[in-house]
Amino acid sequence: MIRLTDTLSGELRDLVPLEPSRVRIYTCGPTVYGPAHIGNFRSFLFADLLVRYLRYRGLDVTWVMNVTDIDDKIIKGAAAAGIGIDALAERWLTRFLADAAALRMTTPDVLPRATRHIDEMVTLISTLLDGGHAYRTDDGSIFFRIASWPAYGRLARIDPDQLRVGERVEADEYAKDDVRDFALWKGPKPGEPAWDTAVGRGRPGWHIECSAMSMAYLGPSFDIHTGGVDLIFPHHEDEIAQSEAATGKTFVRTWLHCAYLQMGGAKMAKSAGNITRVSELLEAGASPRAIRYALISVNYRQSMSYNEDALPAAAAALDRLDSIVASLSTYRQDGPDDATLDDALSSARAAFEAALDDDLNISAALAAVHDFVRDVNRRIAARSLSTADAARIVGFLRDLDRVLAVLDEPADDLEPKLAALIERRAAARAAHDWAASDRLRDELAAAGIVVEDTADGQRWRRAVGVAGG
Ligand SMILES: [Zn+2]
Repeated sequence: MIRLTDTLSGELRDLVPLEPSRVRIYTCGPTVYGPAHIGNFRSFLFADLLVRYLRYRGLDVTWVMNVTDIDDKIIKGAAAAGIGIDALAERWLTRFLADAAALRMTTPDVLPRATRHIDEMVTLISTLLDGGHAYRTDDGSIFFRIASWPAYGRLARIDPDQLRVGERVEADEYAKDDVRDFALWKGPKPGEPAWDTAVGRGRPGWHIECSAMSMAYLGPSFDIHTGGVDLIFPHHEDEIAQSEAATGKTFVRTWLHCAYLQMGGAKMAKSAGNITRVSELLEAGASPRAIRYALISVNYRQSMSYNEDALPAAAAALDRLDSIVASLSTYRQDGPDDATLDDALSSARAAFEAALDDDLNISAALAAVHDFVRDVNRRIAARSLSTADAARIVGFLRDLDRVLAVLDEPADDLEPKLAALIERRAAARAAHDWAASDRLRDELAAAGIVVEDTADGQRWRRAVGVAGG
């Protein structure tokens, strides 16, 4: 049984999907006005790890991640760049998808864009108006009336009566009855994009888009909603209020929140000026696999402190995994199968799954993998494995990697030019031409390929790059 910590109840609870074997997940996605930083991606890759693990466990997952392509920052950014909001959003959405692919994030089943779902938001707002949970102001805006929703504050454990402007509630520029109320719809303003709709002319507030798009694709009640802890209040609190006030149903069964990524002791955020953008790291030569490994390797509920040691440590861990796969791929031993390998494989799998079942405890799952790798290294050194055993272990590691997605591509994906260099080096060694062999090794190293000479002959693996070194 998979257990997860639900933020709303504060409890570690069994995951029991609303529909047997099908899990519906919504993740608050990027606001596409600039490049995403690794703090954003920590949260997205946590959701990716969850989706991958549920699929590995045989569950049918539907994963929706929204794209916020209309908000104040996008309007400002588009004006500064002298282009339309659509062009700006398109540019940064493309960048986001490229970063996500580099970090091997599973592509969500649906990536709905806010500006393509204005109708769904307007329908939801109309229902809230009809039910007395929302009201209009003179400038054409529509606000959610928090006083109409007594459960407000449960997720964030905030007493709504204690909310004051300047503490955790921002007073925006629109007049409203109660400072705590939040905008569902913003009346038109000169120079801002606006839509003509059944609730009037204007544009949607941010919170309503997630309620409208999650329910459009996943139904009024669904299993899991994820996001960073910074979204608990007010964003997710507001999502619950407006969704449940409109439908009368429980909006989300399990709320999962990924803790902050800290840099130099501070939360990573654009305002703190300590961003490390994924695209910048990649351009500096960091291995996308090492970035992924570093970002997924800390349990999601623990805040992660990111510093200059994070990528080298991840690269070293990956190198151990690459190295064992390379060793096993060239391992040849006639003779009987290793009599205790079956037990080793099943206990490694059991430890891996027990860890992830326990609130997605990835650090324990990775420890199980590395323990197993040490055990296999001993078996290789003792020559106790057969050739078939070695192939089975590679298959086993690749199976676990459906969840982790950190292993290097299989060896036959090597570019033909590099494969030719490796063959020439093997030939040079066979001819005892050590000078040529060394020269080819250097040439391969410059191309990012590490070659090693073992009892089973020459083997190679890709070096794991680290930005700046
Ligand atoms: Zn959201």
